[in-house]
Amino acid sequence: MSHESFPTDGPAVVTCGLPYANGDLHIGHLRGYTAADALNRSLQTIGQQTAYVCGSDMHGTPIAVGAAQQGISPEEFAMPFHEQYKETFPKFNVEFDNYGHTHDETNTEITREFVEDLEEAGYVYEDEILVAWDPEQDQPLPDRYVEGTCPYCGEQARGDECDEGCGRHLEPGEIEDPVSTLTGNPAEYREREHKYFAVSELADYLSGFLDRLEGTSNAQNQPREWIEEGLQDWCITRDMDWGIDYPDVSAADGAAEASGTESRPDDDLVLYVWVDAPIEYVSSTKQYSERVGADEYDWEEVWGRDGSNGGEIVHVIGRDIIQHHTIFWPAMLHATDHAEPRAVCATGFVTIDGKGLSTSRNRAVWADEYLDEGFHPDLLRYYLTTMGGFQQDLDFTWERFQERVNGELVGTVGNFIYRSMLFAARNFGGTPDAAVSDAVQERIDAAAEQFEEAVQDYDVRGAGDAAVELAQFCNEYIQQHEPWQLDDGSDEQAQVIRDCLQVAVAVAVLLEPTCPGKAETVWAQLDVDADVHAAESDAVHAEPGAFEEPDELFEKIEDDRVDELDAALEEKIAEAAAENADDDDDDGDADDDTMDASDIEPLADGRIDFDTFESLDIRVGRIESAEGIEGADKLSRLEVDIGAETRQIVAGLKQLHDMDEIEGKKVIVLANLEKAELFGTESNGMVLAAGDEADLLTTHEDSEPGTKVR
Ligand SMILES: [Zn+2]
Repeated sequence: MSHESFPTDGPAVVTCGLPYANGDLHIGHLRGYTAADALNRSLQTIGQQTAYVCGSDMHGTPIAVGAAQQGISPEEFAMPFHEQYKETFPKFNVEFDNYGHTHDETNTEITREFVEDLEEAGYVYEDEILVAWDPEQDQPLPDRYVEGTCPYCGEQARGDECDEGCGRHLEPGEIEDPVSTLTGNPAEYREREHKYFAVSELADYLSGFLDRLEGTSNAQNQPREWIEEGLQDWCITRDMDWGIDYPDVSAADGAAEASGTESRPDDDLVLYVWVDAPIEYVSSTKQYSERVGADEYDWEEVWGRDGSNGGEIVHVIGRDIIQHHTIFWPAMLHATDHAEPRAVCATGFVTIDGKGLSTSRNRAVWADEYLDEGFHPDLLRYYLTTMGGFQQDLDFTWERFQERVNGELVGTVGNFIYRSMLFAARNFGGTPDAAVSDAVQERIDAAAEQFEEAVQDYDVRGAGDAAVELAQFCNEYIQQHEPWQLDDGSDEQAQVIRDCLQVAVAVAVLLEPTCPGKAETVWAQLDVDADVHAAESDAVHAEPGAFEEPDELFEKIEDDRVDELDAALEEKIAEAAAENADDDDDDGDADDDTMDASDIEPLADGRIDFDTFESLDIRVGRIESAEGIEGADKLSRLEVDIGAETRQIVAGLKQLHDMDEIEGKKVIVLANLEKAELFGTESNGMVLAAGDEADLLTTHEDSEPGTKVR
């Protein structure tokens, strides 16, 4: 089944992954929210009815842990962040039609309905499982209360997800060598009764769903591999106080009252945060619908609660939560007779100066910091939405920011608008009395078409390109027709200027999704008598009016400004490193690069015999090629020449080494390690490396690939 192209008869909803209410917003967050905002605006431009909804994620263990550390309630801890997000998004022209939070009444109620429907449809069962337990505190350790080793890739993993390794969701009890984050003690496992959602029964449905799913290819390909590997059922309850209580299902259908037995809710169980988090998309849509009236926008129609196939549901997320949005969430929607998502667009990560963004190391550009610098929000929006496609990782540097602003926004877009408006104001008092030429009309129509095609593909960058390329055309048009050579006020000059002004009107329409504030300014300056935010594609033909000399639309960023910004960024990273080092002295847990005796792992107790050592086939190898594995944070795929053959080996080197630089390097390979599949890629051997930074072992003379190490 292929989907009807946009605009459809029914309404659409665009959502963005919920910000987790436990820290300040930075440029990494803003990428997703600005991209989703631009996508929503673009869909509206091509005539699609949409709502853009989101909300803060208030539940889960990181908030509970943060609150406990500060001695306040989780709600007191999370609510100020929620309020802060609500205030910050509009400052970046990210305009949600509704912004709620997962702890509000609407979401609590709808979440309970979802779970009751899941129970009723027979998808929930109880199971005794082993959960991590802190023996000293005598309490269960759900999710972030426990750390250990990922059973799939061997990386260090936190609670419910392998966030630094293979990215997999981890079920309770799966993590190996569990350690309590409360006390640092090794955790025990104890038996507890929990509720399970039988996701595995929906594997066939999910395969079909992925075939229909639009959006980015990473959101379709990764889940296919997970399904092939076999889906696990999903534990949907946690031993915690903070969250939405597991509903009293037996009372809900009246059976308990009728039979006279008193039913009690499982009041020590709350729902896993990933149950109620995506339901906020539904709840937030409902809140919007209730505010504007169901006649204008009907949430039940969008989510298929009216028994229909539903509207167009478009999710924009970070690629670290693909599994939740392409397996668990559609499974929940399907099992409860809701509509399924039409598209999932998963963005890559943001790096700063080529290195991973790190909040603890302050390698970040914070939302407030950017605004305090006095830059217009649209400049950052433009950078984040057009620097790379959705799926690509995106590197931020102040230098490249300057390049894009000065080159495309100042040089291409701002330049022709300013020049043609200046001519128009001086010589014609505004728009000259002339018709737009056919050639320019056609070029504008072509740009609108290019824009629309990009939007059909969820290609926000392509939509922005359509606007900038049209502006580029107009710069060349001015150069060719040289209005300054023509007689002031002549018909010929009037024609050229009239054409340019129409292009300015059109550029504003097509640039509105990425630069809404600036688009508004252009239309105001041109005296177009309409709202550019409500403008659809045909508004590229809207008439400009009378106006005076304009102000420049964009301001050039000077080199010394960039030097200052770079220096400030470097300084704060250095400060954070120094602070982290101080902390280490205090509590002895190392987070920097130096090592003291307490950091060295104790020597192994047992001894092995010589035959065991001889059974290890260790060889000298040479890395022939290296590339990061798409979708994985750390993993890279290597081709390693080990003399007799060239092996494909997966190694956790992506963030620690420059892939180009390690090509040609000699390494040491354990050749007879059993084969493994990591992130869908076969790994045939292991490249040996020392420590957390993966310091690669090598030889120091000229041993050739294939030489045995003994
Ligand atoms: Zn893993």
